[in-house]
Amino acid sequence: MAKRKRRRHAKAQALTPGQWVIFALTGLALVLGLAVSLAEGEGLPSWESIFSRVGLEAQPLPAEGLAAAANAVHFIDVGQGDATLLQSGGEYCLVDAGEPDSEDALLAYLRGMGVSRLKLLVMSHPHADHIGSMAAVLQEFPVDEVLLPDFDKAPYPTTATFERVMQLILDKGIPAVTAAPGQRFALGNGAVQVLDAGVETENYNDLSQVLHFEAGGLSVLLTGDGEKAVEKAALGAGGLPHVQVFKAAHHGSNTSNTEDFLWAVRPRYVVVSCGANNSYGHPHKEPVARFAALGAQVLRTDENGSVVLAEEENGLRLYTARTPEGGSTGGEQEAA
Ligand SMILES: [Zn+2]
Repeated sequence: MAKRKRRRHAKAQALTPGQWVIFALTGLALVLGLAVSLAEGEGLPSWESIFSRVGLEAQPLPAEGLAAAANAVHFIDVGQGDATLLQSGGEYCLVDAGEPDSEDALLAYLRGMGVSRLKLLVMSHPHADHIGSMAAVLQEFPVDEVLLPDFDKAPYPTTATFERVMQLILDKGIPAVTAAPGQRFALGNGAVQVLDAGVETENYNDLSQVLHFEAGGLSVLLTGDGEKAVEKAALGAGGLPHVQVFKAAHHGSNTSNTEDFLWAVRPRYVVVSCGANNSYGHPHKEPVARFAALGAQVLRTDENGSVVLAEEENGLRLYTARTPEGGSTGGEQEAA
């Protein structure tokens, strides 16, 4: 080994200083890529994986939407709230439905993407920035099944927004399932799996499920507004997967996104769903620094608009789409 090194060194002496710099930088990039991949337990890295760490370049989302058969996750720009659309094999699951005043933007986005029915509608927890436009979604789209938080773990919600959603589910006779670890909901070529289902709490954020969506080569982790207690419980339960995409918990709040949790799931892309200039200061600077330490590419609905990661023939693609109106508002409602 030492001999070979000396020989290469002797040859390299003929390089100009400029060539030396290029040579050294290329070597450094390769060594870093190798070190990161080995640290992640992935074995030797492919060229593609080394260069994918540079980040994906965003392209405008085609107006006609993605191919129905695609595997994709859409972080829809609903201002200060969450609405995440999971897509596979022409089937759709919507996780949360934004704040009340994002109704038009949300419905327009779903229609624009060619959604005509939802195989599954998930309520992560009953705060208005997650269920604000859920009644409108239930009115507009046929829904095959609803996944609800485990309300036995918290005082039962009494807001008018919540009661309206529950009444519509009842009136339409939609089967409703209470979240429990181990549940699996088939979606196209993949499935949405409940890894954990909230903790005993007075804080509705901590009712949020830990959901893993996997379809083809796409893997996504959603934890709603789950805070430290939810992340600790999920870590304790074990079996957290390494994922490509993570929705920053609780809009990128420092109440969540703990270092231990992030390093357990090691996302390559983190998407923060939050409103421009929101009154909570989301995303907080500490979690943003933790995402950077992971080497993850960070995307934000307040800056990028709707963010879509889609698995296509030639790998993962990143699309962004500005919401014409209604999205990226600051939001002033409580308990975002
Ligand atoms: Zn929220």
